[in-house]
Amino acid sequence: MQKTNSNSPSEDWQISDSENLYAINEWGAGYFNISKRGEVQVTVQNNQPSNSVSLLKIVEGMKERGLEMPCILRIENVLDHRIKELNEAFHRAISAVQYQGEYRGVFPIKVNQQCHVIEEIADFGQRFNHGLEAGSKAELIIALSQLRDHNSLIICNGYKDAEFVDLGLYATQLGIHCFFVLETPAELPIILERSKALGITPFIGVRIKSSVIVDGHWNEDSGDRSIFGLSTSALLDVVEQLKDANMIDCLQMLHCHLGSQIPNIRNIRSGVLEACRFYTGLINEGAPMGYLDLGGGLAVDYEGARTNSTHSMNYQLDEYCVNIVETIAECLNPLQITHPTIVTESGRATVAYSSLLLFNILDVRNHEPQPLPAKLKESDHETLHNLFSVNVDVNENNFQECYNDALYYRDEIRELFRRGHLGLRDRALADNITLSVLDKIAKLLKSIERIPPELENLPELLCDIYYGNFSLFQSLPDIWAIEQVFPVMPIHRLDEQPTRQAIIADITCDCDGKIDKFISPQGIRNTLPLHSLNEDEEYYIGVFLVGAYQETLGDLHNLFGDTNVVSVKINPDSSFDFVREFQGDSIADVLSYVEYEPKQMLEQFRRTAEQAVRDKKISASQRQKMLRAFKDSLQGYTYFEREQH
Ligand SMILES: *Cc1c(COP(=O)(O)O)cnc(C)c1O
Repeated sequence: MQKTNSNSPSEDWQISDSENLYAINEWGAGYFNISKRGEVQVTVQNNQPSNSVSLLKIVEGMKERGLEMPCILRIENVLDHRIKELNEAFHRAISAVQYQGEYRGVFPIKVNQQCHVIEEIADFGQRFNHGLEAGSKAELIIALSQLRDHNSLIICNGYKDAEFVDLGLYATQLGIHCFFVLETPAELPIILERSKALGITPFIGVRIKSSVIVDGHWNEDSGDRSIFGLSTSALLDVVEQLKDANMIDCLQMLHCHLGSQIPNIRNIRSGVLEACRFYTGLINEGAPMGYLDLGGGLAVDYEGARTNSTHSMNYQLDEYCVNIVETIAECLNPLQITHPTIVTESGRATVAYSSLLLFNILDVRNHEPQPLPAKLKESDHETLHNLFSVNVDVNENNFQECYNDALYYRDEIRELFRRGHLGLRDRALADNITLSVLDKIAKLLKSIERIPPELENLPELLCDIYYGNFSLFQSLPDIWAIEQVFPVMPIHRLDEQPTRQAIIADITCDCDGKIDKFISPQGIRNTLPLHSLNEDEEYYIGVFLVGAYQETLGDLHNLFGDTNVVSVKINPDSSFDFVREFQGDSIADVLSYVEYEPKQMLEQFRRTAEQAVRDKKISASQRQKMLRAFKDSLQGYTYFEREQH
């Protein structure tokens, strides 16, 4: 049952009530929790003992450095910890199962290509020989420039032309273990031709189409209909071509990517089992093999629900690793096949936790009725009088009837308005009386056991709209594109009961620019409990677990550009350093992305203003003021800026 608007906050609200309300201990994975002061804090587990920093403190630090909201906050230690966890979990599984091979992780660059993220992965990952996966020439160039550890792998997926192949072959010549994974048989002749021309022997992998259909959103990546990978007959065609070229020795990797965010561990086990059969089949065909790459798919529990629903997962990291290692060993042991090096390409699970979006609330619209007159005027329209008496009469026994009547009279009045029989003030009065009826019913519903289905959505229809200083399309594109659900909550005032129910709208003028699905301990809900705004105090919201896929999929809808980005590193003494900061796009930046010339635009505006001076509409000094404002705007942030400079 919804807690309603217009409650006054309870005196005995505890931090633990906020923890339950926002399920932070479920999705926070130990990285995020609520401090005694009622603020969300990030906890770093690498340090002994673990230490925490309030996000509000970081926001204050950003303010002092002139970095305004909205802002993406990256926490370097969290990224490091994820890489460490992934590698150590595989190492634990390998020794538990007495597996004879090794583990080599690679990070798929497409999941977050931002320079600082890749640099940190390459740098911190070195101690685990953590490599990179590239799906395009540009990403291979990133991998070649960033990876300095020759025991790490570079895996090249995607369609490869001669230039792409040459770069990969040069890497091999430099001693980097760089695999070409074939997506289609058509790629092989190019690789054979270029390796012959350059005299460099390639490492080759084959990507198979798994027949395992996975649960969750990405099930199209898997199964026979997947657009990626070789069919079984194409796979044999590749084997024949390699044999003909006397290069079957180059075939050393089997690659299988079941899809992203696989919520169900059973699918993963089936996929691994099938991959093992392909692996042994290729050994029987005479390929040396040695590497089994199981792609991405390790999920993130955005809901914290531990279920096999799309935004969750029904397994833990250790279970994932044990399942993979055990399945391979069980499959290969009876055949006495040497255990391969296990490769995974976990993207989402590596970076999701390390970034969050922070923004301030600019305005709130609520749907509370204005105070009504004690009674209507004699002269008011009969239908208005009817509507008014519905509002007077509504009680716990007749509310359903009153609901129907109120909507009936309201619609009748709107019809009269359209025909010109009623004026603007009548219409406004009718809307307000209707709101009052609905509001009363919503309050009555709170003490009703069985809510009639048509009234179930009423509290949501009456919820507030909080306007957030961000663009959904720029910063959270998956909410719009695939109905992704991210944890969203205020980062402070959590020692106070939130008394409002709200959805969050962004500042684009697009009606899709809103967040109206939220996680809760009871599952997905349509409104988020929030606090009333305080005078002269910013209210900050965090959207968590946004490190994967959001940063580059975003677009320039309404020309809201890249946000400011801050990377912090938390020190063992709970202080923190701003290790990187990037100013977001200026208005001039985004205009030039769509082919405008800011200089020329200023010149055109100058001419318009100069003409106005000639026409004596403005003075020359007014012209100067306007030109300055125009110029300052061009240099300004694309988001809402508070006047404080
Ligand atoms: C996208 C992709 C990944 C990353 O998947 P996650 O689910 O984010 O770990 C890995 N491998 C390939 C081939 C991909 O296309």
